[in-house]
Amino acid sequence: MKQTGKRGGVLKKIIIALAILNIVSGVFGFFFLLSVNIFYSFLSLGGGIIASVPYFALAGAMDDIEVLYEEQRKLKGQLHIMTDLMYGQTQLQTTAPPFPKETSRRVWECVKCKTINKAGTSDCSHCGAKYSSWINP
Ligand SMILES: [Zn+2]
Repeated sequence: MKQTGKRGGVLKKIIIALAILNIVSGVFGFFFLLSVNIFYSFLSLGGGIIASVPYFALAGAMDDIEVLYEEQRKLKGQLHIMTDLMYGQTQLQTTAPPFPKETSRRVWECVKCKTINKAGTSDCSHCGAKYSSWINP
């Protein structure tokens, strides 16, 4: 992205140089044609200035494009951070350690096999399902 900006900068300098060249050639033409024909000399000067206008306009537009590039780069960076955060969150969820082993303080019924388990146990004696205060109130 930074290289694009640099290339744009060089191109801009070339465009401005071309614009200046147009004016300079117009001025040279003005002095050259001054001895020949005053009308042609002014035509050359005016033509040189007018011809340089689109170059300056282009250079100005390139500034806008560079700003847009910068904005896009910023937005891309923000999006990247957001996706990174989201990815990090999902990673956290998947890599989160399992619930710590809970031990029942009283008799509890297994939700899977309906076995009544003794107090002080953390697994179902029949199917081995873990006791949880959330699912085994
Ligand atoms: Zn069970």
